[in-house]
Amino acid sequence: MFLRMSLFRMIRTILVLGGGSAGLMAAVTLKRRLPALDVKIVRSPEIGIIAVGEGTTVSFPKLFFEYLKLQPKSFYEMAEPTWKLGIRFLWGPRKQFFYSFGYEFQHRYPDLSRDNGFYSMGADESTPIPGPLSAYMSLGKAFPKQPDGLPQVHNHHGYHIENKKLVDWLVFTARALGVGFIDATVTPERGEKGIEALVTANGERLTADLYVDASGFRSELLGGVLGEPYISYKDTLFCDRAVIAGWPRTDEPILPYTTAETMDSGWCWQIEHENFINRGYVYSSSFISDEAALEEFRRKNPLIATEPRIVKFRSGRFARSWVGNVVGMGNAVGFVEPLEATSLQVICLEASSLADSLIDSLCEPTPSLVAFYNVFNAQAWDDIRDFLAVHYAFNTRLDTPFWVACRNDTRLHGAQPIVDFYRENGPSKLAAGHHLHAANSFGMDGYLALLLGQNVPHGKRYVPTAREADSWRTRSVNWMSDARRGMDVRQSLDSLRKRGFK
Ligand SMILES: Cc1cc2nc3c(=O)[nH]c(=O)nc-3n(C[C@H](O)[C@H](O)[C@H](O)COP(=O)(O)OP(=O)(O)OC[C@H]3O[C@@H](n4cnc5c(N)ncnc54)[C@H](O)[C@@H]3O)c2cc1C
Repeated sequence: MFLRMSLFRMIRTILVLGGGSAGLMAAVTLKRRLPALDVKIVRSPEIGIIAVGEGTTVSFPKLFFEYLKLQPKSFYEMAEPTWKLGIRFLWGPRKQFFYSFGYEFQHRYPDLSRDNGFYSMGADESTPIPGPLSAYMSLGKAFPKQPDGLPQVHNHHGYHIENKKLVDWLVFTARALGVGFIDATVTPERGEKGIEALVTANGERLTADLYVDASGFRSELLGGVLGEPYISYKDTLFCDRAVIAGWPRTDEPILPYTTAETMDSGWCWQIEHENFINRGYVYSSSFISDEAALEEFRRKNPLIATEPRIVKFRSGRFARSWVGNVVGMGNAVGFVEPLEATSLQVICLEASSLADSLIDSLCEPTPSLVAFYNVFNAQAWDDIRDFLAVHYAFNTRLDTPFWVACRNDTRLHGAQPIVDFYRENGPSKLAAGHHLHAANSFGMDGYLALLLGQNVPHGKRYVPTAREADSWRTRSVNWMSDARRGMDVRQSLDSLRKRGFK
């Protein structure tokens, strides 16, 4: 007998509360995957959007150009992104190290007995080059040059995108797909299933079968009306503020990566836009005042030309993101500082997993599906906390009170068994499947990049045979000479723009 266990009558209408990146990405994803749904965004002109969030991971192009199969032309023309191959860390005892999106440390070449991680990282302070993408990054190059003069744009990249341009492109895309927009500040009304209506100032009651809470840090529905419990990450992540500013690019090369630089009481990003360099100092207000952070930020970035603005945040997530007829999205569900630029990544996951849930449940989600959705998306936030823990617990670059506290007190949570395994077994990926679930977006590769990059000691230093050492040397030389022939971001943009981004 068919057992009908749906939480909902069929979902036909969705109201998305919020027109920031989260609300827009959710609306575009839902409308593209389920065109029959009536999807509307309600956004407050008075409240506005947070207007930060400018670095992505590979999840962003994957969502829009693989999962949603949108054409990238309008994105390149309107959002004017640059490519990001990974992160350059000024972190730990080495001058620098790279974490690329290429899964380079866990790769194994057929003529070598071990993975790249065993060969590429001396315990000295040199810059490790574990694979071709790191070689490109080390020379400021983005892509190989094809015979026709165009860059060979592979898919191991994210983007740097100015927030306003991203939001403009998302609004354009949402409208083109048929998403409706309502400009109003609303007050939610509680009902039996969660939310009964969103009420505008002039008393209009907006109703839907499902409400997506993308109201940013206000979390109007999930944290506000529904009072979902909040799980703080403050035993791992001590930072709670950022000061943000930048300057117009002059003759600086456009670097194909985000830079993350150790600061006295936190760290500073550098994000590379085509015509603007964006800097932000993420710090802990328990260790430095706003004034002192601003002073350090300005001193280390004398080119700053825009008025710095301070953004306050807390790190953590709500226990569940789907409660009754409300599904949270973006900052309304959780937030983790942008050390790995992961908020847009989580939104990609939240939006696509919601669309998949509606598709597979024929728009009548069941309790077990909602329970799964909650575990799956909570895990994505916790994975980021765990990964960031390794950035904080082992950075020996500075001995300021902040960094001493990070090394002494950072709780590793889910990263603990990975670190323990690494300490005994070195850069082996043997236990990856045991310690990391299949959907972990950083994988063992991310952990190895950070552990080896920061020179965290381990007990299995491998001395390659003469033949292996020779093979590795030849490879490294080839990667560097390929990279030297490659195209930088400026050359890649110019050549693709000339062809109309086709
Ligand atoms: C310092 C900092 C740096 C960051 N850097 C990165 C990065 O490099 N990469 C990355 O991936 N992420 C980054 N993020 C995160 C990123 O900014 C956000 O995840 C992303 O912008 C999504 O924001 P949002 O849409 O959830 O919220 P918001 O942009 O705040 O949008 C909230 C929306 O809800 C609306 N709203 C709220 N209440 C009401 C109401 N009552 N009625 C009507 N409308 C309402 C608002 O008007 C707005 O439209 C960063 C965040 C911070 C704080």
